[in-house]
Amino acid sequence: MPDGRAAVPEPSAARAAELRAVRRRLDRASSVVLTTHVNPDGDGIGSMVALASRLLRRGAEATIVTPSAPPASLRFLLTEVPALLAEDPAAADPLTRADAVAILDTAEPKRLGGLPDHVARTGGVLIDHHPPVGPPLVEPAIRDPAACATGELVFDLLSLYDEPLTTREAEALYVAIATDTGSFRFSNTSPRAHAIASVLLDAGVDSGGMYRALYGVYSRGRLGLMRLGLETLEVDPRAPIAWIALDHRALSRVGARGQDMEGLVEFPRRLEGIEVGLLFRGLSPDRTKVSLRSNGDVDVSAVAQMLGGGGHTKASGVIIELDLEGAVRVVLDALRPLVQAAVEPEPRPPA
Ligand code: 5GP
Ligand code: MN
Repeated sequence: MPDGRAAVPEPSAARAAELRAVRRRLDRASSVVLTTHVNPDGDGIGSMVALASRLLRRGAEATIVTPSAPPASLRFLLTEVPALLAEDPAAADPLTRADAVAILDTAEPKRLGGLPDHVARTGGVLIDHHPPVGPPLVEPAIRDPAACATGELVFDLLSLYDEPLTTREAEALYVAIATDTGSFRFSNTSPRAHAIASVLLDAGVDSGGMYRALYGVYSRGRLGLMRLGLETLEVDPRAPIAWIALDHRALSRVGARGQDMEGLVEFPRRLEGIEVGLLFRGLSPDRTKVSLRSNGDVDVSAVAQMLGGGGHTKASGVIIELDLEGAVRVVLDALRPLVQAAVEPEPRPPA
């Protein structure tokens, strides 16, 4: 295996067919806008950067347009591809010229800001690894929850072309996979995730450098939020659920940015004996963002969906139009029966 790629197991036949259809659609496009969900994460940004870079190298126009700003820790990926905020007047130009929009790492119109209108007009492709809910926003689509990250699907897509990965493409895909697998620790860390990572390291990724860029440096604001957050840690007396709750003034109190909240939910999740960890974050006095993380069998996406959000079985989220206390009550009421059912032994049949 001279280029190492033979080490990566072939994708399933169903995924392979979707990959070919997406490639055909992209090959017909001369101007592509790439986008991802609000509050873009490493998987969304990394997937867009890798695909945009490849499209540019193939002579197409490619512009990243995001509904909200990428976190500062990921900006190093965005130095070689044009990237704009959807609200920036300059974004109108590429959006008007685009003959395809590529939607990455979400399939939900309401997580795309105003971009779905453009997609409806232009058409394009969708590449996502969230469990499909409803018909795809646009087709052709690759929707495969067996993928550890959208970056895995983009890796497969780029593998259909003969060109080798550039170092930047490999870095972008590495960031996508490393962040969505919790640095290769979560249960979605498949053999394929490691096999792809091996190819990416061969292509020039500096794993230590990536770790420092993503996780090795904390702002004062982030440490301040951790201190404030840990002081609010609570455990439900009736089920093994723990949570942190920060009101909408917390960020300004410690001089933090929204992105400094990233990872805070892992503290309640890590508490000994806990099945589900939660982070409640006041966005305003009557709007609360909730992050849900499961350590075992509890499907937290079911609760998120019931309340109007979504996500994965072990990591999901929702925004609730209630104050902090109201959101805590509503989420605990919905979640507690599921957690209790998961931890309580089956009732014994009568003797
Ligand atoms: P986080 O808690 O880190 O914001 O999000 C965890 C996962 O939950 C994300 O990967 C995303 O799939 C999902 N998610 C988070 N917030 C929302 C939301 O408001 N709506 C939906 N549908 N999914 C969300
Ligand atoms: Mn993802």
